[in-house]
Amino acid sequence: MSALSELYKEIALCHDCEIAEYRINVVPGEGAEDADIMFIGEAPGWHEDQQGRPFVGPAGQYLDKLLASINLKREQVYIANVIKCRPMANRDPSPVEIRNCRKWLERQIEVIRPRMIVTLGRYSMAMFFSGKSISKIHGTAQKRDNIIYYAMYHPAAALHQQSLRQAIEADMLKIPSLLAEAEAIAETKPQPQQLTMFEV
Ligand code: URA
Repeated sequence: MSALSELYKEIALCHDCEIAEYRINVVPGEGAEDADIMFIGEAPGWHEDQQGRPFVGPAGQYLDKLLASINLKREQVYIANVIKCRPMANRDPSPVEIRNCRKWLERQIEVIRPRMIVTLGRYSMAMFFSGKSISKIHGTAQKRDNIIYYAMYHPAAALHQQSLRQAIEADMLKIPSLLAEAEAIAETKPQPQQLTMFEV
């Protein structure tokens, strides 16, 4: 069994938060175990909870289109969320849920060892860009740990606001050259222990 499948089994057993009692499915994440690029959203919504897969509702369809704009298919990347269960009534993830679930995201990053981590929205941004505001740093990259961290707006927010839509589409187009840079930084994929994640 692959390292990711093992991890998914462990995540499915997690009941550290109350929201686990209300989920239909846990939504660990999906994509290529050897992906160079990892996208991290916020939390599963209704569609994701129904299917047990990340970004399969309207925001996910838009993410697929954004990926297609740089000739990527979702099977070539890895897609995860900050938390793996759907918060009731689509509320924001709570600080406790984020803290409880952080171990799973760390383990996913350890397995995948992405060269580039793209944060979608402010919750995942806060874990990798400390104390920053998304309106200031979207479309900008930070290089650390031999990884390129890149902040983008959340596709769901961009779907409903024209100005954010233009921004997210333009920011997506910058990814291929950043990825090429990430490949140039390190011949081999980064080691997990080099990772810096902030407390939120
Ligand atoms: N929004 C997210 O942040 N993640 C999903 O999986 C779906 C919608």
